[in-house]
Amino acid sequence: LEAKEEFSHKTLAMDVMRPRRSDPALTVLTQDSMTVEDVEAIVNETTYSGYPVVVSRESQRLVGFVLRRDLIISIESARKKQDGIVSSSVIYFTDHSPPLPPSSPSTLKLRSILDLSPFTVTDQTPMEIVVDIFRKLGLRQCLVTHNGKLLGIITKKDVLKHIAQMANQDPDSILFN
Ligand code: ADP
Repeated sequence: LEAKEEFSHKTLAMDVMRPRRSDPALTVLTQDSMTVEDVEAIVNETTYSGYPVVVSRESQRLVGFVLRRDLIISIESARKKQDGIVSSSVIYFTDHSPPLPPSSPSTLKLRSILDLSPFTVTDQTPMEIVVDIFRKLGLRQCLVTHNGKLLGIITKKDVLKHIAQMANQDPDSILFN
């Protein structure tokens, strides 16, 4: 078995993460440049449980992770209760409000719902290790990075599907495919 293992192709985090090569890009939020209406559109057009927050689309540097349900509740409540919050209000997850022209509407701070240290692995991490981390830490999702840039996401369901696929394949095809 040990000798055979040399032929086996280890599944890596990049093989299981979403998006797949042909899929549309990961749906992310930026830390201080999207408006209430931008974020509402994303929440309405997608059903993901959460969204990574990045410094900017160009940098793809990970800042944190925000749950869809927390976004919905916070925006709804701010629209009702917080003075000056309108569709064009800028949402920020940073410590301080971004510099904006004086005529801009009130900004909405959502730092309190941001998970600032979501679990991450690099794209080259073997799935055996990813599965182990999910089991031991009871993760719901894990982000995948390469050279510090956000690449993708693996959810608990993605991991379970991966485990089921491995179990269904006969041993020879796992070793030689
Ligand atoms: P689940 O995997 O439990 O259905 P989600 O609804 O969050 O959870 O994710 C559905 C699929 O979309 C999963 O395969 C996941 O990897 C992927 N996914 C999750 N969040 C995002 C996102 N923000 N952008 C792109 N794909 C995502």
